[in-house]
Amino acid sequence: MKRVAFCTFGCRLNQYDTETIRTLLEDEGEFRTVPFKDEADVYVVNTCSVTARADASARKMIRRIHSERPDSRIVVTGCYAQRAPEELAQLPGVSLIVGAADRGQIAAQIQASRIGAVRMAVSPIEQANKFLEVPVTEMMERSRAFVKVQEGCNEQCSFCIVPQTRGVSRSRDPALVLEQVAQLLKAGYPEIVLTGVHVGDYGLDLTGRRELTALIVAILEQPGLARLRLSSIEPSTITDELIEVMAGESKFARHFHIPFQSGNNAVLKKMRRRYTVEAFDRLVERIGRKLDEFALGTDVICGFPGEDDAAFQDTFDCLSRWPITYIHPFTYSVRPGSEAERLGDPISGEVKKRRTRALKRLSKERSDAFHEQYVERTVEVLTEVSERRGETVVSGLTDTYVRVYIDNCGENARELTGLRRVRVTAKAADGVVGALLPA
Ligand code: SF4
Repeated sequence: MKRVAFCTFGCRLNQYDTETIRTLLEDEGEFRTVPFKDEADVYVVNTCSVTARADASARKMIRRIHSERPDSRIVVTGCYAQRAPEELAQLPGVSLIVGAADRGQIAAQIQASRIGAVRMAVSPIEQANKFLEVPVTEMMERSRAFVKVQEGCNEQCSFCIVPQTRGVSRSRDPALVLEQVAQLLKAGYPEIVLTGVHVGDYGLDLTGRRELTALIVAILEQPGLARLRLSSIEPSTITDELIEVMAGESKFARHFHIPFQSGNNAVLKKMRRRYTVEAFDRLVERIGRKLDEFALGTDVICGFPGEDDAAFQDTFDCLSRWPITYIHPFTYSVRPGSEAERLGDPISGEVKKRRTRALKRLSKERSDAFHEQYVERTVEVLTEVSERRGETVVSGLTDTYVRVYIDNCGENARELTGLRRVRVTAKAADGVVGALLPA
């Protein structure tokens, strides 16, 4: 049996894709997963290419693996591998590069690869047009289970290379989603997180009335489910029906992550985003009308070409006005192959960084204020056990995405699982602290 270890960069979707690859390899019967820090025969690096920095991190990791384990094979897959396979082939130690459409054959490709030569298995992205169905029933390290329901994207946002790296939008058969959810619940995962590149487009390519809200309602009916969470969703796809299901079903986490990107219509147009600031404004209002309390996270790009000081101020003002609970600001970098490449990168690095820092500060203020509201309240959290500087840390998330650290778990800390009631006593740096209440 070959020992295989995994390293994942980027989003939750990539984490899920790593689980897919692990399942494919383990099911083959020739591979055994080992922790990344251990010696392995094969290291699979699942890359992200969302920013120049993400590319650099992947290259650094590949170099590090090769210098520490020169006798191991390095397999590179993910968005960077699809976008620039030749670039990755130059790196020392890379034995195999696997593209988005070729992932289903990864086991055979690894068997055919060898140390000292680079094997390319990167088909044109147009061939990535079917959902790769892999029944993942176990996640490597989380108490929550991620379930991918959709892949690819049909939009053409000018800054983004996802359509070129992941292909067109394709949905997973709802019966197979429900089957996987049932298996994960049976395996002991009480929370399911639905992921996809553009989950709001779920069902568009399926026949019959198949759309995201119907899928969510069907999942919520599954016995044993404690919580369902939705990952990032595009603003134009959030229907009143979806918001109503969230408002009316306590198992559906009151948490939206909606990429905003800019608060200036001219910049949004250059980005080819399919909404205006006014439409986003109405969306926030629609959510607020139906839900008393909710988490609202967003992504913002700082320094996109054409974003002058006034345009950035527009973004800042919107985010200050809306009940945003956290912001993920991204410093703009040109993605080779994206449509925005022709716009260049006219805004100085210093200005981009200053704007990014301003949004990070705003995000901290917002999340601090949101967390503060939880002090002296009783909440339900899904417990997770982790190690921090040699100590066992028990924490969990509320449905509104607040991290709650539990400080009276005693010797049974490791056995704590599932949803628990916690009395919040104080604010912490990145969440709140509380004491466990009797079950
Ligand atoms: S919606 Fe836009 S930003 Fe999101 S994956 Fe599709 S093209 Fe990229």
